[in-house]
Amino acid sequence: MQYFAHMQEIKSDILTKVLTQTKDYNENEFNKDDVLDALNSEYLSVENLKALLSSVAEDLIEELVFKAAKIKQRYFGNNISLFTPLYLSNFCNSKCVYCGFQKGNKIVRAKLNENEIRQEMQAISKTGLQEILMLTGEGREFASVEYIARACEIAKEYFKVIGVEVYAMNVDEYKLLHEKGCDFVTIFQETYNPLKYSKIHLAGEKSVFEYRFNAQERALKAGMRGVAFGALLGIDDFRKDALATALHAYFLQQLYPNAEFSVSIPRLRPILNNAKIHPKDVNERRLLQVLCAYRLFLPFAHITISSRERKGFRDEVIKLGASKMSAGVSVGIGEHMGEKKGDEQFEISDNRSVKEILTMLENSKLQAVMSDYVG
Ligand code: SF4
Repeated sequence: MQYFAHMQEIKSDILTKVLTQTKDYNENEFNKDDVLDALNSEYLSVENLKALLSSVAEDLIEELVFKAAKIKQRYFGNNISLFTPLYLSNFCNSKCVYCGFQKGNKIVRAKLNENEIRQEMQAISKTGLQEILMLTGEGREFASVEYIARACEIAKEYFKVIGVEVYAMNVDEYKLLHEKGCDFVTIFQETYNPLKYSKIHLAGEKSVFEYRFNAQERALKAGMRGVAFGALLGIDDFRKDALATALHAYFLQQLYPNAEFSVSIPRLRPILNNAKIHPKDVNERRLLQVLCAYRLFLPFAHITISSRERKGFRDEVIKLGASKMSAGVSVGIGEHMGEKKGDEQFEISDNRSVKEILTMLENSKLQAVMSDYVG
């Protein structure tokens, strides 16, 4: 897919490196000894990571969990960082077949105005949260860069840590967001298989695979403090997509050693008006395997566990490797202030309030971290 006229090209060899490693990955080439070798390594090679993501490593899940929990403890102690997403708009001009916001899907669309953004933020900040992640659908005509920058500026009045999960931008646009208070950029590549990507991203800016792939690098060039990655596991071969996600973060970390990196492990969830979308082969055991492989390969990176997952699973994985979780999640537009104006993107499984999450953490002898940012 060709770049759109406004899209900035940057020189980067990371895409080629990631795709080469992923294309050549044959999980059947790894045996039990390779997995044990990876588990006994202090610092993992790419080959070690491939072994940990193979089917044979599934049979050694207890060993993976044990090692991941040890590493989590070494780098994060009992800390669990908390944040909540805030949906600013669900208008979208892209057509991603797995998403409820896709253009043409008959849902109630809405976009928050400045006053409503403020009300939503006031409601969230009263819960004690200090980190917010703002989201929109794609399409500058619906949510312009200036609109998102203004939302960052307002967020600065209420929160210490501000992130965005919006459409991919150019370096100067990320710079504007950073000037207005944004520090973190999340972009999910969804799948790293370019062919599959083109089949499920049918229209809009998001259909340009390479521009999206380079978004984190443009964000770091713009001075952002950190970037986050994720593949929507279950869209394609989840082992290859997990490998590519970890390598994307790893190669970029080599270029930007002082930046903060974060990976998520979302998997497909049912959406409004599409009964066919169901997570298939990525069961919880496999999701846990991916999480452990990420923890071992990227020991410093945050691993976020989404409220798409059920609470029992979330409560366990924060002891075993995940270091960050969402709390008090409302995915409808305007839901925090109690006036839902627009429909949600997908169903969530864990809708516990911030208070309930704090109680759970306390009972599990874990420490909630609202912000690790002094400044
Ligand atoms: S995934 Fe994002 S870009 Fe794609 S349809 Fe949904 S909101 Fe739009």
